[in-house]
Amino acid sequence: MRKPTRTREVGRGEKVLPGIWRLRLPLPWPGVPHCNAWALAAGDGVVLVDTGMHEPGSEMHLHRALDQARLRVEHVRLIVCTHAHVDHCGQAPPIAERAGCEVWMHPNHAHHTASLEDPEGALARRLEIARQSGVPEEPLRRWASRRRAQGTGQAGTLHVDRELTEGATVATDLGEWQVLETPGHAPSHVCLYQPERRLLISGDHLLGRVSLYFDYGYTPDPVGEFLASLDKVAALDARLALSGHGRPFTDVPGHIAANRALVAERLDAVQRALEAGPRTAYEVAQAVYGDAFDEARTAWLMTKTRCWLTHLERRGLVARDGGTPERWSAAA
Ligand SMILES: [Zn+2]
Ligand SMILES: [Zn+2]
Repeated sequence: MRKPTRTREVGRGEKVLPGIWRLRLPLPWPGVPHCNAWALAAGDGVVLVDTGMHEPGSEMHLHRALDQARLRVEHVRLIVCTHAHVDHCGQAPPIAERAGCEVWMHPNHAHHTASLEDPEGALARRLEIARQSGVPEEPLRRWASRRRAQGTGQAGTLHVDRELTEGATVATDLGEWQVLETPGHAPSHVCLYQPERRLLISGDHLLGRVSLYFDYGYTPDPVGEFLASLDKVAALDARLALSGHGRPFTDVPGHIAANRALVAERLDAVQRALEAGPRTAYEVAQAVYGDAFDEARTAWLMTKTRCWLTHLERRGLVARDGGTPERWSAAA
């Protein structure tokens, strides 16, 4: 994993194919130095897929990236968000306002928007889940105060003009892109597929580097949903994936297989962690992630661990006792 660095990235823009530009926008997150927005030629302007997050300097980085592609914010005719995570929709409202365009996104965006509407309520809910999972009070208090001090990453009020669901299309000069619902990473996740050119805009569903994350608490089984979304994308026969982070990649089946393998490996590790007897989700996460389970990553890894456990529970392989903290065990 890349170390956090003082040298900040800057926004960059580059053409990847005629009519497609990659806008690489910096992120303040350790291990995730930037995200991609994609500009797709459409008439006298572009469709902008994803926007980068909102933070000090982020607008300048977007302008710089657009400038390198010989584009300006005023050229944006439509904003499409692959999902409601701040690195993909954080700058949508000010861009839409300046360009006078619509924002299209999947309707299941409460995993992001609920916490914008009621930050303290959302934080209280997360703390309750953390206590239920056995996270000790001290690191939890530190996490909550860091969380309160952070910005949301979202500029303005996210207003969705059109709900992007299965079967919707997005018109560009490269042809129509089909919207595929691909929940798992986030309940609001969609991929865009251009069938004649076999191009896939994969958002965070498939990344250049295999890295898994699932939003917890908004759908019954994020891991199961993610696996079903992998099957859906596998059936497309895409020849090039343009992902939410990292470089475009061609070996789409290889990436899908690597994602499935990592899911299987993690589920296995969770089951092994329960072999010696009942454990809280916090103890399971420590066993599964080992040295990677440091305080900076606790929230992230706990969310994933709860998703692993929920998936195994639905498959009848583990069970919980419902106490506080709750203990999980291998199903009899
Ligand atoms: Zn995401
Ligand atoms: Zn992302």
